[in-house]
Amino acid sequence: MLYEINEKAIRLESEGKKIIRLNLGDPDLATPDEIIEAAYASMKAGKTKYSSSYGENKLRQKLAELHGVKAENVVITPGSKWGVFATMYLMMKGGGNVIIPTPYWTAYDLIAKSLGAETKLLRTEMEDGWKVDLDKLERLIDKNTRMIILNNPNNPTSKVIDVQTLDGIVELANRKGVTILSDEVYGTISFVKTKSILEYDGEQTHILTTGFSKTFSMTGWRIGYIIANKQLVDKITKLNQITINNVPVFIQDAALKALELQKELAKKIKEEYEQRAKLASTTLTKAGFSFTKPEAPFYVFPKMSGLDSEKFTLELLDKGVAVAPGTSFGDYREHFRISLTAPRAEIKTALDKISEAVG
Ligand code: PMP
Repeated sequence: MLYEINEKAIRLESEGKKIIRLNLGDPDLATPDEIIEAAYASMKAGKTKYSSSYGENKLRQKLAELHGVKAENVVITPGSKWGVFATMYLMMKGGGNVIIPTPYWTAYDLIAKSLGAETKLLRTEMEDGWKVDLDKLERLIDKNTRMIILNNPNNPTSKVIDVQTLDGIVELANRKGVTILSDEVYGTISFVKTKSILEYDGEQTHILTTGFSKTFSMTGWRIGYIIANKQLVDKITKLNQITINNVPVFIQDAALKALELQKELAKKIKEEYEQRAKLASTTLTKAGFSFTKPEAPFYVFPKMSGLDSEKFTLELLDKGVAVAPGTSFGDYREHFRISLTAPRAEIKTALDKISEAVG
């Protein structure tokens, strides 16, 4: 349905209709100039050749420093999506099952299925603050469980996992010998403190995937990274060798520049999303929707009792606003997801139309 909405939005636009696109997590903000300049300078300096499948040393070292690990624990990937895929591929290709809390980012489920792995969905509810129930999680783990995927902060709810629950999940995973893949792609720009999986894990038994797309508005550049133990990093590197070989070096140089400027760039981006989230929260509350307050950028996942979000989403598209139905993130028919990835004035117009549609 997510793709159907997108295709319909493109069709309506090609017919000359104005569509406010709040259906994808692709920021409207431009990649900061300093990053573009760094890529250009690197290309001009001839960094246009094949390179290491681990990634450039300077970048790995800088990331290691930022995350408090060793450079040997870092491998550069073409976006964090490839990082998630490569990790799941290596851990699941022989079968087994993976536990995924819902609502979820659809790719986890689709990747697992493409590898012939079983997915065990662990439902969470808005009314419980989207908390993972540790007893339910324990009951889902069996001898074939290879992995638990956490998305912290979460797409589509923008909820950060509270420390007590995260402690409980990690304790359980350690006790049962199950690896956690923690997708923290929204972590650096979350509005509240977000405990990283790396804070638990001196030995790197668990895995972090993240990237530059969201923090620096670099979705199209395709660069991310994995932090894991050396054995897994080596295996991912081998997979890189037989597939993508390496992320272009000039893109890695641009990413290094982004990290040098991280404090100021990420701060600006975060502040903008916080304003947008406030605007959305006020209007949606007035219109009678319930939702948990966004604790990270990009998404709100409102609910209205009795709403058929697929029908609602298609009708809203005819009124010029594209959002994503809740069914794209698991069994959440009464919810829909708004991506706050448009200028504030457009978001305001869209929110007014959403309010009218249920008024
Ligand atoms: N994880 C989550 C939860 C996402 O929402 C997205 C992008 N929508 C990604 C990973 C992929 O990001 P990247 O551009 O780094 O591949």
